Amino acid sequence: MTLNATHDPARRSWVESANVPDADFPLQNLPLGVFRPSLQAVARLGVAIGDRVVDLSALAQAGLLPPSVASACQQTTLNALMALGAPAWSALRARLSELLGADTCPPGELRSRIERHLTPLRTAIMLLPAQIGDYTDFYASLHHATNVGSMFRPDNPLLPNYKWVPIGYHGRSSSIVASGTPIRRPHGQLKPSDVAAPAFGPCKNLDYELELGAFVGPGNVLGERIPIAAAAQQIFGVALLNDWSARDIQTWEYQPLGPFLAKNFATTLSPWVITQEALAPFRAPAYARPPSDPAPLPHLNDETDAAAGAFDLTLEVWLLTAKMRLTGEGPHRISRAQSNGMYWTFGQLLTHHASNGCNLQPGDLLGSGTLSGPTRESRGCLLEYTWRGTDPLRLPNGEERQFLADGDEVIFRGYAERAGARRIGLGECRGLVLPAL
Ligand code: MN
Repeated sequence: MTLNATHDPARRSWVESANVPDADFPLQNLPLGVFRPSLQAVARLGVAIGDRVVDLSALAQAGLLPPSVASACQQTTLNALMALGAPAWSALRARLSELLGADTCPPGELRSRIERHLTPLRTAIMLLPAQIGDYTDFYASLHHATNVGSMFRPDNPLLPNYKWVPIGYHGRSSSIVASGTPIRRPHGQLKPSDVAAPAFGPCKNLDYELELGAFVGPGNVLGERIPIAAAAQQIFGVALLNDWSARDIQTWEYQPLGPFLAKNFATTLSPWVITQEALAPFRAPAYARPPSDPAPLPHLNDETDAAAGAFDLTLEVWLLTAKMRLTGEGPHRISRAQSNGMYWTFGQLLTHHASNGCNLQPGDLLGSGTLSGPTRESRGCLLEYTWRGTDPLRLPNGEERQFLADGDEVIFRGYAERAGARRIGLGECRGLVLPAL
């Protein structure tokens, strides 16, 4: 993906809040989502600019969007737009950049026609961006896999397949919820190692997992594959994803078939999809494999993917406890990780997923797996951060956590920053833990 005028850091929007240096949604971002302007209104597509959301459905009805995307922009999910493919996504982005640019849309009749369709982000009700047919979660962070593996197998943290085949499992889409939806602490079978039989009860070791979710674009026909060289163009965009995990349920149930009820009670997704074109200035080389590691097999090996198949994003975990809310404290940042620590690129994950002929469809979601870095401050879940609870998280107000408590709110934030490019943000992914029923 080459850079174009929409990435020009000098471009400014006539929506003044978009021009603040640390704004998540400047003119160079233009993330897409689904919102209701009010409780009674029907869902519609929107693009975030500064502290406003622009109604794409209204712009399409007014004849202001390219004909290739006009119908897709009047749907209630992003799926139809995802199905159109990269040239159509690019045409939409170019047009939105023009319509919302200060120089390209000077004060006048056109600008006032658009101004009528702005809603403050503060009052917009954000929904899931797509109807997610299938959700797959991977395990692509080498640091995460090594940390978790070493807790259970100190001598042999990485299983022999890890560096050959991307590890993943099929998740569940029915319990994926929009940011801000409270999460109910799940019940499950728990069997501490010092008791003989499991008991059914509320999860005691509730955790978050800091992840990126990638949305599939057009996808592939059942029985056909997606070549690695075509994989990048198949990814519509990314959002923040919290793969809530019940560690005690997981420990008991996961062998031999992998995660099940420990994972599928809730998954939270941030509302704004950062498009692949918005991420173009933040492309990075794939994980630098040391010479002792195997090269990817030919069907997962591509020069362009190796050179620029990763994204350089910074992701953060913040925690706001019930006590902090009561005393008026702001959330506390627990950790910060880089997304370029993924051993596999999203292109490789997607190509691998379709390599047996499994059909991927527009709106399918691929989770990266927990994103952790090499230091404690860059670990993407409490299991790792507290090392199975043995080294608790200590908060500035004196509270301690081994795992999440009722009333805790977990907040993920993300952004991309690079010299010569305009900083863009991913917004927030939030979820408050409610007591078990
Ligand atoms: Mn996960």
